[in-house]
Amino acid sequence: MNKYCSSCGVEMPAEAPQCRSCGAIQDNFVYKSRVAAAVIAFSTGLFGIHRFYLGQWWGIFYLLFFWTYIPMLVAIIEGIVFLATSQKVWNDKYNRGLSLGTEKGGVVVIVPLVFIGIAMVGIIAAIALPAYQDYTNRSKVLESKLVAQQLMPAVESYAFERQQWPRNLEQLDIAAPRTSDNVGSVEIDAGVIIVAPAASTGIAGALVYIPKAQGSSIVWDCTESTIDKRYLPADCR
Ligand SMILES: [Zn+2]
Repeated sequence: MNKYCSSCGVEMPAEAPQCRSCGAIQDNFVYKSRVAAAVIAFSTGLFGIHRFYLGQWWGIFYLLFFWTYIPMLVAIIEGIVFLATSQKVWNDKYNRGLSLGTEKGGVVVIVPLVFIGIAMVGIIAAIALPAYQDYTNRSKVLESKLVAQQLMPAVESYAFERQQWPRNLEQLDIAAPRTSDNVGSVEIDAGVIIVAPAASTGIAGALVYIPKAQGSSIVWDCTESTIDKRYLPADCR
């Protein structure tokens, strides 16, 4: 199949990107920018978009494994390689040896750096935010633990005096335990102390401290607590 040059009208192969006669770049030729490829790699390389941009189907592997963040590291390295590649080598590889002039130098340095920065912040946020969330949730649960600990001596002395567990909080005849915004309900049920974090913390379940007579003393077991293990004090896990 032949066609005619869009510039000089000479007959030429349909798939040829450039006219041999007048040198005009043909409409069917899509120039692959080196800088654009690098910028895409730095920004959305996690999903393999730079590979799709370059017409490479195996960008799909980036897409499949984006959740591991490994494609992002690969893409950042590839972006750096793109920038380090000379325009001539790049054009030979991706533009069938054709050139649309040299790409601007300033953009080459600044834009990718901005995207590296954004990518780094993204990675750090993705790792650090859940860790920070766990940390704050643990400290909120700790406030419930402190409330439970306030009640333990009262439950113990009640049990020693009457040889039975207090049925509820009222039986203890003590001032209401000091709580905080992060502590929801405080209950005693047959000696068992149950303290639940406030609903506003978003932490489901409760700390459950079960008293057990051990010789002449009482030990407290909180391994039956119903809060997510990630947020429990170490001795309750
Ligand atoms: Zn021509």
